Amino acid sequence: MSYFQIIHKGDHPNRLFIGGVHGKEGRSTSQALEQLSDEDVGEGRLVIYNCDDTPYLSTLKKQYYQSRIGKEILYLIDYYQPQVYIELHCYNKENFHRLTSPNRRSEQGVPPLIELEEGVLIGSVSPYIRTTLFKRDDICMTLEMPCNPGPQSLTVYVNVLKIIAGSNSRKELEDKMVQLYPPQVETAKRYAQEFFGDYPPF
Ligand SMILES: [Zn+2]
Repeated sequence: MSYFQIIHKGDHPNRLFIGGVHGKEGRSTSQALEQLSDEDVGEGRLVIYNCDDTPYLSTLKKQYYQSRIGKEILYLIDYYQPQVYIELHCYNKENFHRLTSPNRRSEQGVPPLIELEEGVLIGSVSPYIRTTLFKRDDICMTLEMPCNPGPQSLTVYVNVLKIIAGSNSRKELEDKMVQLYPPQVETAKRYAQEFFGDYPPF
């Protein structure tokens, strides 16, 4: 189930998409990643890695990055030095409200995830890596969909992945996302500024 693929069309930008970073999420995220192909990638490179099952440990916990899979992810980031880093997750439907709740900041220490449509959510990556391993202008995003997604959720999710893979700059990505999801991008901007300071939305 775990797989690794590189689509190479040049050296810049460098994108790293990692699916299923904990638990059994890789079983769902592989369904999305396997739909990406050469023609979806703009300039530069796309590195795709989908993880096998691992014990579930939240990426908001420091111990995650001391676990075997956490270290593997740190290694991949260090090795590929991506300007675009995307984590693909999935959630059980009963957790939807917890993930999108305005209280997530006080309860979990991170901003709520934002629904695009069909249960597909966007958010930032773990604060443990966002500000330490990436530059301010790098693009870092968590993408969530329901686990064992229905066709509508999967279509939205794959479409967002293709937009990211096909964009060659932050500006290009933001323009495309604003066209499709204007209020969500506004909210993402606000959360990023509230949480990280002078940071862009993804
Ligand atoms: Zn997850």
